Parts: sequence; C-alpha cells; structure tokens
Amino acid sequence: MTATRGHRTLTARWVFPVAGPPLARGVVTVEGDRIAAVEPHGARTADEDLGNVAIVPGLVNAHTHLDLSGARGLIPPTDPDHFTDWLRGVIAYRRTRTPEQVQADIRAGLAECLRFGTTLIGDIASEGASWDAVAAAPTRAVVFWELIGLSEERFQAATEQAVFTAGLRWRVLTDSGAVPRETWRFAFSPHAPYSVNHSKALELARRGFTAVHLAESPGELELLATKTGPFVEFLEDLGVWNPEAITAKLTDFLVSHKNDTPQPLFVHCNYLPPDAPFKPHQTVVYCPRTHGAFLHPPHPFREFLKRGVRVCLGTDSLASNPDLDILAEARFVHARHPDVPGEPLLKMITLAGAEALGFAAEAGSLEVGKSADLVAVPLPDRDAADPHELLFADHPGDRRTMFRGEWRV
Ligand SMILES: [Zn+2]
Repeated sequence: MTATRGHRTLTARWVFPVAGPPLARGVVTVEGDRIAAVEPHGARTADEDLGNVAIVPGLVNAHTHLDLSGARGLIPPTDPDHFTDWLRGVIAYRRTRTPEQVQADIRAGLAECLRFGTTLIGDIASEGASWDAVAAAPTRAVVFWELIGLSEERFQAATEQAVFTAGLRWRVLTDSGAVPRETWRFAFSPHAPYSVNHSKALELARRGFTAVHLAESPGELELLATKTGPFVEFLEDLGVWNPEAITAKLTDFLVSHKNDTPQPLFVHCNYLPPDAPFKPHQTVVYCPRTHGAFLHPPHPFREFLKRGVRVCLGTDSLASNPDLDILAEARFVHARHPDVPGEPLLKMITLAGAEALGFAAEAGSLEVGKSADLVAVPLPDRDAADPHELLFADHPGDRRTMFRGEWRV
C-alpha cells in the first residue's frame, strides 16, 4: 500500500499510546484525520518509518500566558518571600507593551508552543487577547479570559464585560468558519485569591469552567489567614487594597460546579496541604521549572498523584520560564524526581491535560477513533530498560508534529 494523505501507517523505534504500554516498533495507522489502529510491531507493514524517534500523543500544555511571551529573561523570579516584587515587575513590564507588541508576543509564544509539539494549550489571556491568534492556529485550545478585581463592583463589571464580549466574539469566529468549534473553547479565569473578590469569584467558579492560580506563594496564605503580609502593601501601592474582598479560606477555592464541562483547574498549588480536599475531576496544574525558579519548597504533586488527584503540567509564561516546551517540564521532573514512574509523568503532559481541558474524547492518547494528533520526538542512540528513560532524557533534535492527520510544516 502506498502512503497517501488518506491512509498512512507509521512506525518508529517506540510508540507510546499512553492508553497502553509502550510498543517497540509499534505501528500507528491514520485514516484522514483519525487514528485507525495502534498495533504491535508486525501487525501491518508501515508506509513510513520515522526512525529513532518516539511517537507520542500531541503534547498538552495546560497553563501558559502567551501574552507575556516578550518577557523572557526580563523579570527574574525572586525567592518565595519576595514574590510580590516579581509581580510588580510583571505589572511594570505589561505597561510598556503596546497592543501591537502584545499581539506579536502572542504569535511568537504560540509558534514556540507548536514547534515543541504542543497540540492542546490552556492559555490565560488578559482581555482575551490571544483569542484570534490561537483560534487561527493548528492547535486545540481553551483560552481563559483573565478576570481581576478585588472590589465586588470591579469584579462584577469585569465579568459582565468578559461574558458579553466573549460570547459575541465566539459567535463571530465560529459562524464565519474562522474557528472550528471542535478545536477551540473559551472559559474564564478569576486570577488569584489576592486579586479577586472572593465571593464573586467563587460564585463564578460554581457556575462553569474556570482556572485559578492558587496557593502560589507563602504571602498568599498569610493574606488569606490574617489579612497581613506582603500582599497588603503590594495591593495598597496599587490603590486596590480591600480587606472586605478577602473572605474565603484557601481550601474554599476548591469548588466544583454541576455543568457538563470540565471541573476547575487549580494552577501552581505550591503551598496547598497534601491532604487538600479536592473534589472529583478537579485538576492541579504544576509548573515545574517555574516552581523551581522561585525556589519554592518541594511541590506536593506526588502526594496528590498517590491520592488519585489529576495532575497535569504547564509551562507558565516566559516571564518566569526559559521556554514553552512542555516536554522539557516533564524532563525536569524526571531529572529531579526519578522516583516518579515514566507512565504517569507522560500522562501529565498528554491525557491528564486533555481530560483537564475537556478534550479527552478527541485527544491526549493514541487510540482508535481519536484525532490523529501526534509528535515524533528524537531519541538518544543508547538503550534503556524502560523506554520512558529515553523519552525523558535531555535530547536535542527537531520534533515533527501531526495535527488532525496532517503534518505541521
Ligand atoms: Zn500563570
């Protein structure tokens, strides 16, 4: 059989379906934009041998801020006790960027995500700024419209404006055919417990799909516990300090909702207690290299995993991370925590992310009927008892990505 765009069988040194164990020289058959078969070596003749690479599902970066992609290296992360100094740096940086620069930054960050093999992105966007760029790109995405406002009125106004604008733009983009409805969604992100009105933000999170930064720094815990600490001065200097807005405990943010949409994403969770009372289908998004850059104490993700809590990985933004390579996040975890088995680690950048963002029926694993979203990751020449060791070894080389049955060029 010849390789056509309609029907192709690929092989490589390793195939990682994620839905099952790795297959040495396994074969993946693609029909149109779908996966038609994932089989062991010898089940059928391959049209194309990709060589010394791993074929893995398209990668999922569950948390980034593409609109900060121009900030690489400009705002050095602080130690945990001076986190508000870093926030001041981010605010000052944002004030220097024109809307045109922000759009260029978003496009550059998006291109970087795609180059590294990302096929599903959870992006937090100030005023939904990344919508048009993300919607036009060959990727799946959930774009969370960021909401900020400590006073009840300010948060309410921001939410109403976002709901109105988001709904309108969603309709225009999808009706015009510019955005395939099946690859792109929007949601909202009440930013963080130090920047939103608690009762209003929790009300929103009880209504539908949201992502919130939670338990990121020790100062946030102090603010919520006693309304003191570095955040008070930070918010006073911004002219927005409002003690009446701070009414919830940290774990009060672990709300769920009754809609048929994904449950909330809790981003960072660096300081959440290991026994935090998560509800079913909620997600922790751990950003390993950013966590490391801020010198936080060890992250509780291993305890969460042991308890069956869904954990996926994010790069966070280039204001705190060296690049937007989600596989590099997993490699970082592998190097520092060799006790974490390869299988759940790979799941954190594939299927767990797809489940968290509501795309598991289409993406996140190589399974018959799912979208043909896959990445060919170059492997080192050596052997290893566990093939995950090869995948998570720091190894250079360009990755080739197929999205919906077509190789990205
Ligand atoms: Zn973030």
